[in-house]
Amino acid sequence: MQVLHGIAASPGIAMGKLCVIDRHQTTVSEYPISSDTVIHETARLTQAIEITRIDLESLKSRLAETTGEAHLFFIEVHLMILADERLVAETTEIIRTGLINAEGALRRTLHRYREKFASINDPYLRERISDVETVIERVLRNMNGQVVEPFPQHNGHTILAAHDFSPADLLQIDRKNIKAIITEIGGRTSHTAILARALDLPAVMGVEGITDFLPDGVAVIVDGLSGTVHIDPDQETFQSSLSRKQHYEYVEYELLKSVPLPAVTLDGHEVHLLGNVEIPEEGSSVLKHGGSGVGLYRTEMLFMNRPDMPDEDEQLGLYRSMLQAVAPHPLTIRTLDAGGDKLLEGMDRSEEANPALGVRAIRLSLSMPDEFKKQLRAILRVSADGPVRIIFPMISGMEEVRAAKALLEEAKLELSASGIPFYSAIKVGVMIEIPAAVTLADLLAREVDFFSVGTNDLIQYTLAIDRSNEQLSHLYQPLHPAVLRSLRRIVQAAHGAGIPACLCGEMAGDPLYLPVLLGLGFDELSMGAWSILRVKQILRRCTLERAARIAEGCFAYSTAGEVEMYLKSQITMNVTESID
Ligand code: PEP
Ligand code: MG
Repeated sequence: MQVLHGIAASPGIAMGKLCVIDRHQTTVSEYPISSDTVIHETARLTQAIEITRIDLESLKSRLAETTGEAHLFFIEVHLMILADERLVAETTEIIRTGLINAEGALRRTLHRYREKFASINDPYLRERISDVETVIERVLRNMNGQVVEPFPQHNGHTILAAHDFSPADLLQIDRKNIKAIITEIGGRTSHTAILARALDLPAVMGVEGITDFLPDGVAVIVDGLSGTVHIDPDQETFQSSLSRKQHYEYVEYELLKSVPLPAVTLDGHEVHLLGNVEIPEEGSSVLKHGGSGVGLYRTEMLFMNRPDMPDEDEQLGLYRSMLQAVAPHPLTIRTLDAGGDKLLEGMDRSEEANPALGVRAIRLSLSMPDEFKKQLRAILRVSADGPVRIIFPMISGMEEVRAAKALLEEAKLELSASGIPFYSAIKVGVMIEIPAAVTLADLLAREVDFFSVGTNDLIQYTLAIDRSNEQLSHLYQPLHPAVLRSLRRIVQAAHGAGIPACLCGEMAGDPLYLPVLLGLGFDELSMGAWSILRVKQILRRCTLERAARIAEGCFAYSTAGEVEMYLKSQITMNVTESID
């Protein structure tokens, strides 16, 4: 038996026979060319790009017929990368000045992109390189005349392993017989991982060498909960994995039964549990897990990895798909939260010494009012189709709220002048994630319809701990007394002004924090789809009254460690109480 470790990318445990798919990098030889053949090589490049575009378009129409529109977003992203003029311009430049063949030049362009992406702090954005790799691999294959083989047919329980799978690959696999996937590259926030989770397909990623030396047909166990792959497991491992699998599936089955149950406490207090999303696939996953809408739609993705800004219609198309995916539930769209470590193409912020404190989020949007209004008009237009709310990110003071709302009013006037319908009383909220906004919460509450607390940033800015610095992760403490006092103040300010307080940072999805957030009085919690039922389970076992006492009790402690110990003891007692 051999044990390999990777990243737990999609939960679930599966057993089956390994089938290695040859999705290895295309072998590319780089060789010198003479200056007379530069035109020929450039033509080979553009021709291969065109063939790839036609391939992707036809894949898109085939998938639209078989799997429906819901999952086509990924193909759109790949078409966008392919249409990026700089891909051709940079590669042509390498052919011309380096006098090397088209394949070699394209491979060099990919290396440059890899270096650029590797220096990005944000793990989600760093992993967008996998989309670029998939597209360039396709072009290289077409240049070499290699056909991308469709997946072979499989019978029974098969575990597919490959260097990488593209999201399009996943959409084409036969879910009846394919029980899990393993890849050598990629991580939790890659598109393939997001889609695997949306399709309930267990996945372990980043398992180096899985495709190199293992024969097809060998027995494997994929544990997408722990990120482990057992090759040729012994009897004991097989038995223990089987009982882990049964336990996991039983818990999932039981949790899924609670989808139709209301998210209310034992004493009848309702808390809206919603999902955080970035792509339409996640919208359907939120509903499948019993979410009552989307509390945070991060729109950054649409703006990244491209030289231009998406126009109003393109934005409208995507927001519509998202609204349709969650219909008839509400969709809360956050305006562009770029900058900091989420750089857009063409934004050279290298002169910023502190990007986390730089031109980002609402500051960036306000600095380009025309682009901002395009987004606002697109959001307003989709509000004519169903319940849509809007939130502005990283608000630090009243001027920003007023300036953003003034542009929203201008956008409304422009739409009215053109006779385009929208919902004029659209609800407007602000993210509370900067300590200044906490201090000003009572004033801000008078200007907006709801608060949404971004604890990921609020913790970072309150404690001065970089949220992506792994060396400081032990100091990144959601239960820090300063954070809890901020949360209490935010809810009090919201309720004092008669508006709801929502929370959409990662904290919302951890069942441990539920009694505190409930007890503090949060009206809505928005989290990753997978967490919704877990949080609901605890919610349905609490009373509001007891949660309020637990929350109050937290303020008697002066360190995060003490609060955590107290909370854990209270949760155990609480569950016991409800069983008695
Ligand atoms: C947050 O800061 O908590 C949040 C929800 O926004 P993001 O993680 O996108 O910054
Ligand atoms: Mg934030």
